[in-house]
Amino acid sequence: MAGHSDKPLAGVIGWPVAHSRSPRLHGHWLQRYGIAGYYVPLAVEPAHLPAVLSALPRMGFVGANVTIPHKEMVLSLADRISDRARRIGAANTLTFREGRLEADNTDGLGFIANLRDHRPDFDAGRGPVAVLGAGGAARAIIAALLDEGAMEIRLANRTRARAEALAQALDPKRIRVVDWERASDIFVDVALAVNTTSLGMEGAEPFDLTLPMLGPQVLATDLVYAPLITPFLARARQQAAQIVDGLGMLLHQAAPGFERWFGRRPVVDAALRAAVLAEE
Ligand code: NAP
Repeated sequence: MAGHSDKPLAGVIGWPVAHSRSPRLHGHWLQRYGIAGYYVPLAVEPAHLPAVLSALPRMGFVGANVTIPHKEMVLSLADRISDRARRIGAANTLTFREGRLEADNTDGLGFIANLRDHRPDFDAGRGPVAVLGAGGAARAIIAALLDEGAMEIRLANRTRARAEALAQALDPKRIRVVDWERASDIFVDVALAVNTTSLGMEGAEPFDLTLPMLGPQVLATDLVYAPLITPFLARARQQAAQIVDGLGMLLHQAAPGFERWFGRRPVVDAALRAAVLAEE
């Protein structure tokens, strides 16, 4: 395509986007594999999203990640939507191919890969799963857990109707909705405990739920990764659970996009983690 830089370009589209760690993440891989490409933050107001998405491929972009608040809206602008993105109702990974915009969602893959890094024999069907929160991220991880064979998912969300809509859309038989006032109860005798709410995130409201005794057979993970050890994870550890922080999910969800855009399957390891955590 004459006129384009032959260096592939990709980026993350958000509003705001300055906080995103994706440029550092992809930047580390580009440097490590000696790929002459760029990955940049793209601050795009919601009203400008359609114009930006039609302009990016003409500027040499091969793809992009999308983050808050565009993850749902982007589906209405895509030419092709993967089955899992359609089921989740949101996309995080876009590829521009032959004039078409392809939308996919890799959050669920990232979530499961992160758990398997810590427990290679992780089996979603081993016992009940407790999930706090029913937002976009919860949809992605619950769809992945169902695909991995989870038989009983107990779901508590502040806005109960949102949890019920999620259960209805994904699997009303295997997802049981519990009132937020009784959220502590969903953790009794679970194999996996997950916080998908923003409670406990830096700058967000505090996490103040009490957890019952969990035990070392329980795996607890939080999607929030700032701070790395969230109040939910600290409490789960006090109750003897094994904990897995949410940064690994962010690293793993990025890998399929990098491979599609830059042609190399990247690894997720301690060096990547350190690069993403490094101070500016
Ligand atoms: P979202 O769609 O806005 O959902 C937010 C969730 O948090 C909802 O369940 C919401 O409940 C709940 N919540 C917010 N404030 C609350 C409060 N004061 N009390 C009780 N519940 C509250 O956001 P999302 O996209 O699902 O993301 C959720 C979190 O996951 C964010 O912190 C995000 O950074 C993180 N995340 C991490 C990764 C990763 O790779 N590690 C990937 C995606 C997202 P209501 O429905 O009642 O509002």
